[in-house]
Amino acid sequence: MKTRIFSLFVSLIAIFSSASITQAQIVQPCGHDHVTAQWWAKNPKSKEDYERSVKKINASIKSKSKFNNSRMRNVRLTIPVVFHILHLNGPENISDEQIHDQIRILNRDYQKQNEDTSRVVDAFKNNIADVDFEFQLAGIDPDGHCTNGIVRHYTPKTMWNSSRLEDFTYTWPSEKYLNIYIVKKIDIAPAYTFLPGIGIPDYADAIVCESWLVGSIGTATSLNSRVLTHEVGHWFGLPHIWGVSNAPGVECGDDFVDDTPVTKGFVSCSINNSKVCSPDIQENVQNYMDYAPCKLMFTNGQAAYMRETISLGLNKRDHLVSDENLKATGIIGDKPCAAKADFYSIFSSICKGESIKFYSQSQTGDINGTQKWIIDGGIPSISIDTTVDVTFAEAGEYEVKLIVSGLNGRDSLTKVVYVYDGNGGQKAPHFYAFDDGILPSDIQLFNNDQNGIHWQTLTDIGANDTKGCFFLHNAAIDSKGTKAYFETPFFDFFDNSKPSMSFYYSYAKNSATQADTFRLEYTLDCGKTWRIFPGIPGTNTMANLTGGVTSSAYFPNGPERWRKLTLTSSFQALFKNKNSVKFRFYFGGDSQSSVANNFFIDEININNETISALQDQ
Ligand SMILES: [Zn+2]
Repeated sequence: MKTRIFSLFVSLIAIFSSASITQAQIVQPCGHDHVTAQWWAKNPKSKEDYERSVKKINASIKSKSKFNNSRMRNVRLTIPVVFHILHLNGPENISDEQIHDQIRILNRDYQKQNEDTSRVVDAFKNNIADVDFEFQLAGIDPDGHCTNGIVRHYTPKTMWNSSRLEDFTYTWPSEKYLNIYIVKKIDIAPAYTFLPGIGIPDYADAIVCESWLVGSIGTATSLNSRVLTHEVGHWFGLPHIWGVSNAPGVECGDDFVDDTPVTKGFVSCSINNSKVCSPDIQENVQNYMDYAPCKLMFTNGQAAYMRETISLGLNKRDHLVSDENLKATGIIGDKPCAAKADFYSIFSSICKGESIKFYSQSQTGDINGTQKWIIDGGIPSISIDTTVDVTFAEAGEYEVKLIVSGLNGRDSLTKVVYVYDGNGGQKAPHFYAFDDGILPSDIQLFNNDQNGIHWQTLTDIGANDTKGCFFLHNAAIDSKGTKAYFETPFFDFFDNSKPSMSFYYSYAKNSATQADTFRLEYTLDCGKTWRIFPGIPGTNTMANLTGGVTSSAYFPNGPERWRKLTLTSSFQALFKNKNSVKFRFYFGGDSQSSVANNFFIDEININNETISALQDQ
């Protein structure tokens, strides 16, 4: 610890500069001291090992500085990072963008790019370090597969228990990656990690942080965005500024870094009252390794300490930043992984004249890889961008193809987009009797034959004493979580002020607790969005009124097994004079039950009640 020779002269200036600082940040303690004390209590010898490593680091720094009057010029060190997001599908499952924002903040703070260094008090103004670390998300995982460096795990461990080292089951080798676990809640503090050199197992050599403290966007805010700057400091060897085996505000302590004054540490930004341990020495309240919420800087001594932790290979941190490892983790050079085409759109159909966005999620396998869209009937019809916004001028079914290629091959994926006119369609009345055993040509089936579940017509069973019907063959098939549906054509009710619909249904549950779903859905915007038609009975009611509960394959064997549903006033309110309406009959299997039974539909009648002659059809 050295007395700062200029500390005597700066008190007045510090008062002026601190006046402009708004201390709006929130104090965020860290669980590092707690887990370290716990570890040393169980492993007393590891504390001696750690103290030896501290001496070694400081001796090495000293011997290097002998040969350099000024500090050695740094070489930038690159660190491959992997984020493991442990979640239960709640807000803790933060976005990729929030992770990218966190990487930006780490690089900003570790490269002294933060604009708020202008607020550093004069005592430390000339000692703000550019640590010169570069953080990058890994491009290749430990098995050699391509990755974006963000791995999501659906697990109750998102409620993290810091005393269970065995819960670090997702860690990639810590000599190759900086592992950051993102969780919903930690039992002891919002974040923590261990120091290198204290002998913890490799799989626990990771940082754990609550999701709301990651980055500055999404579920986080810029006020709390430096928690990981602090934790990464620990991961590269820095203790809290008040030293190990101490607590903030208790005793004046030493962190074994030569240019950070002895301090008790601060939980508030007492910049004007920072001479606590020695009457002449201003303490570094604004240090990233303190608890005060005005963290702005590392000292050059801390930067040297972190870099020496790496060059001495504590916890194999030297291998982490090696060119060999940067290649193996996909940070530099080509990625030895196969090209894979993948893309999605939020919509599967639109109206003509509208545009639709397609997002590529492809991996080309190397940095010079290419991707190319070929869009049948679209404007543009060719693109090499990652996201393409395409307009279709005419109605039709169009193929959208994405071809990706790289050093390790080529891959393509084709999807179909449906473009509808948005005007006109079938006029009511329109009637589906299903009596001839042939599926009407204007009915479209979706997800048909999922696990063998399929829609089919019957010619010997029908509602209202008719011969045929339509049914979802569901009995004795694993229907757990399946979604089967069919759609009608578009209907034009433009000059129909009294449209209505009726149909018959019959259904049995396989077990009393069976919770399948039936919905009548409709779209008014060419299939972009689907809404649920209100007031349709649920499957419990449907089963109670028709087939009941039976574990054998259900078929309605008499007229009392059918119910007619007639939709008039609510139907008219929604659809009268609408010029392009499409209907979807949707059946979803119980997500918990693997057994189900058959679902029957018959005599679908879409009507125009202003045409009185056809009212009774
Ligand atoms: Zn800490």
